[in-house]
Amino acid sequence: MCRLFLDSGFRRNDELVRGFLCSESGAEFIMKIIDIEALMPAAPKASSWLVAERMSSPMAAYPEYAETRSSWQGMVPRALARVTTDAGIVGLGVGGGGAPACHIIERHLKPLLVGRDPRDTEMLWDLMYRATLPYGRKGLPLMAVSAIDNALWDIKGKAADAPVYALLGGNAQGSSNSPPRVSLYASGNRSESYPALGFTRNKVFMRYGPPDGAAGMRRNEAQVAAARDALGPDRLLMVDAWMGWDVPYALTMAERLRPYDIYWLEEPLIPDDYEGYACLRKHLPWLNIACGEHEYTHFGFRDLIQRECADILQPDLAWCGGVTVARRVAAMAETRGLQVIPHIGGAMSYAFVAAHEVCPMAEFIFGSGDGTQIAPINPFFVGEPLPDRGEVTLSTAPGWGLDLAPDAEFSRPHAT
Ligand SMILES: [Mg+2]
Repeated sequence: MCRLFLDSGFRRNDELVRGFLCSESGAEFIMKIIDIEALMPAAPKASSWLVAERMSSPMAAYPEYAETRSSWQGMVPRALARVTTDAGIVGLGVGGGGAPACHIIERHLKPLLVGRDPRDTEMLWDLMYRATLPYGRKGLPLMAVSAIDNALWDIKGKAADAPVYALLGGNAQGSSNSPPRVSLYASGNRSESYPALGFTRNKVFMRYGPPDGAAGMRRNEAQVAAARDALGPDRLLMVDAWMGWDVPYALTMAERLRPYDIYWLEEPLIPDDYEGYACLRKHLPWLNIACGEHEYTHFGFRDLIQRECADILQPDLAWCGGVTVARRVAAMAETRGLQVIPHIGGAMSYAFVAAHEVCPMAEFIFGSGDGTQIAPINPFFVGEPLPDRGEVTLSTAPGWGLDLAPDAEFSRPHAT
């Protein structure tokens, strides 16, 4: 529809639009994107247990890469979009994909967006999606789109003097608390540390997969047994296999873990194995299957939903195409009785969870150091809420409530 209007020139006719919508306050209505910068945060100086310790992964099929993620992946780089408008409002959005995503943002998408109203998020998402189709649809191009889309929502919030959660639907968490509080689960393998910090839910990462045979299965089970011991019987325990298993292994491992009362099994298979996920969901009715952190756009999540791959969908707001996509995922999930628990956490994720009834909790990953310290997920920001007794209290600042940390280092690898 928007495209047709564009073709007819309707949307480009500023006088016509302003005349209809804003005869008295036209000056406030005018806003155009004048610049988009793609910033890459400097790599963290300290290593993280996530890449330094053994973890189940799709690359474990190759023994030389089985021990650590850092042997093949390194740190996963972010890409940020900083969108400047002629109204003086600047939006910040988190994406993924590092320097290659910065290239897409500055060299391809920026020229298409400059001059347009940043608040037209539906049309601008469609424009970016169509423009990147020849090389996009999933992965890195959508990480670039995510950064810009999230920055546009920051602008929408700042223009309305409202936090993004208020624009998305307000506080859906069943209480009249203002600002909203969001419950968290702790992601990390130091299960003994999290109850004392107030967390009542913990997800642990499996270390072994099919190449490790029976001994690996025994070790996986021992890890889960120790986590259940540390948490006690009443706290939720979840298991993440990070794309490292196959269907037979996952079926066997799930049965072995059944005595430990696992709430969900996350991403046991590679993301393209939709049939495998459907098979697991069908044959493990007592266990929730969670996936989607490596899925992209509402089309990708439609496939997960229609093929009955998952009970819990986990879009990453910095990867899936941005909050514009994530809210479509939430709408689809609601019609099928599924839950949405976004991947990884951070201010954007918390705002999204606060505003959606299908989101019972958010993730907080203990991603720094040895996995026991509460530290910002995106340390290059100021304003990111930190957990307190297993919850975060949202900022009521306009937009996402984030600013670049004055001491954070960024590069701009594809400046135009
Ligand atoms: Mg995961």
